[in-house]
Amino acid sequence: MKPYDCLYLAPHLDDVVLSCGGTIHRRAREGERALVITLFAGSPTEDANTAFSRELKERWGAVEDPVGVRRREDMDAVTRVGADAAHLEFLDCVYRRGPRSGADLYPAVEHIFGEIHPEEGFFHEELLAALRPFLAASPRATVYAPLTVGHHVDHLVTMRAVRTLHDAGRRVRFYEDYPYAVQPDEVERALAPLREGDVEWLKCCRCFGPEDLDAKADAISCYRSQISTFWQSLSEMRRDIETYARTVGDGELGEAFWRIVRPDPGDGR
Ligand SMILES: [Zn+2]
Repeated sequence: MKPYDCLYLAPHLDDVVLSCGGTIHRRAREGERALVITLFAGSPTEDANTAFSRELKERWGAVEDPVGVRRREDMDAVTRVGADAAHLEFLDCVYRRGPRSGADLYPAVEHIFGEIHPEEGFFHEELLAALRPFLAASPRATVYAPLTVGHHVDHLVTMRAVRTLHDAGRRVRFYEDYPYAVQPDEVERALAPLREGDVEWLKCCRCFGPEDLDAKADAISCYRSQISTFWQSLSEMRRDIETYARTVGDGELGEAFWRIVRPDPGDGR
């Protein structure tokens, strides 16, 4: 495995391109090597399909392997922003069952945007174990993870894993999850629990140029199976991501990242 300067963690196939695509493209032009690792990119077996996931499948149309389609879309998208892609085989929360009970863990929308199920109290350790080879191959790489805007359980469990890395001294940054982050009060709502225990967070905006925004739009358009969930047309998508980038960049084009400034692992804890 070759070493990278940055490891971007996407819970789902599209999170990183939607949230960080402009930054990745800009920095790739400057020679930065980035790997986008999607964690919950596994295809469920028919047996693993839960009642809720079957309902979604019927709503979206019967496709043989919908996650496989999304993995191929992601390969194209990530390449267009100038990074490499890797896919882990964990299942999206809609497919997950309790290791002890065998019950569907997140059977409805309120569970998906609720709290991590008690049966998954140590699930983040499994994620970390799967990430170890990537972390070992790039020991100095900055790790990027979702800030958990929107409160999706797969984003929460990813954050939990990455907080462990931060505590162990790894350089970590958290990106604002787009499109949830379009609502400023959603960002504040995500930060409120993260500030518990006097943890201090600092926001920084990474600016980029129009060509980077074009590359990001081009990459997002690769997610053909997902686009209609968010937008009615590609031009609407292009307009929305520019509006968001100009809001974040205060007139310039930008994306927002957060880091923990206190306590940090170096200050004697
Ligand atoms: Zn996601």
